[in-house]
Amino acid sequence: MSTLEIKDLQVQVQTEDGPKEILKGVTLTIRDGETHAIMGPNGSGKSTLAYSIAGHPRYEITGGSVTLDGEDVLAMSVDERARAGLFLAMQYPVEVPGVSVANFLRTAKTAIDGEAPKLRTWVKDVNGVMERMNLDASFSQRSVNEGFSGGEKKRHEIAQLDLLDPKVAILDETDSGLDIDALKVVSEGVNRFREREGKGVLLITHYTRILRYIKPDRVHVFVAGKVAESGGPELAEELEANGYERFLTAAV
Ligand code: ADP
Ligand code: MG
Ligand code: MG
Repeated sequence: MSTLEIKDLQVQVQTEDGPKEILKGVTLTIRDGETHAIMGPNGSGKSTLAYSIAGHPRYEITGGSVTLDGEDVLAMSVDERARAGLFLAMQYPVEVPGVSVANFLRTAKTAIDGEAPKLRTWVKDVNGVMERMNLDASFSQRSVNEGFSGGEKKRHEIAQLDLLDPKVAILDETDSGLDIDALKVVSEGVNRFREREGKGVLLITHYTRILRYIKPDRVHVFVAGKVAESGGPELAEELEANGYERFLTAAV
């Protein structure tokens, strides 16, 4: 089972000019095995939603709730959220100098499962994932995200998704900055994850392009810190044709 329920979520950040409200009541439920796309213009609060669910300390929850299979996510530490089965692929993955991809993956896997993975199967799993993600074997020895190209960063995020095997994956602009070949590799990785039993995906994107490869069950248009409209995949087609204008004028 994996149901992520976001109810009336309100979030603010502290700025030099005082508190700034970014999320203004986000309500959204991803049921068992569903993929939802959140589409919205720049600055609408999409990454804020992702960070808030993941537990970034910068984002203060001022109202509402987030639960995963009924458990209060907002009461959990960042580590507990990961162990509970939440995964966030960040829009701008951070560099971790001095920590190799291999070590990073193994440490994360150990922390999430509560025990170290069996070495033989683990090495095989990692090699298999690297191959599927079209990453060179030597990639495992590089420092996490240091000097990675945009495409390598995103492929590394999906390699993590594959190996860590969360219940719900939040993918923040995993498509941005990818050429068409990398976009296909990344999309195939996400689709392989979706084929596993009961996995939820929240796919955050600015462009409709990735939705040609990853077919969402539901599409939400996100404007000015909340969901302006929800619908099926046809909503993405409307956005592709007409952009966000209709929603922006309505939000003012
Ligand atoms: P999106 O991902 O949709 O482009 P963001 O969530 O990154 O939007 O940002 C939404 C709004 O909140 C923007 O106006 C942005 O400047 C502001 N914002 C986000 N994070 C912070 C922060 N840590 N400090 C101040 N303002 C922030
Ligand atoms: Mg943005
Ligand atoms: Mg963003």
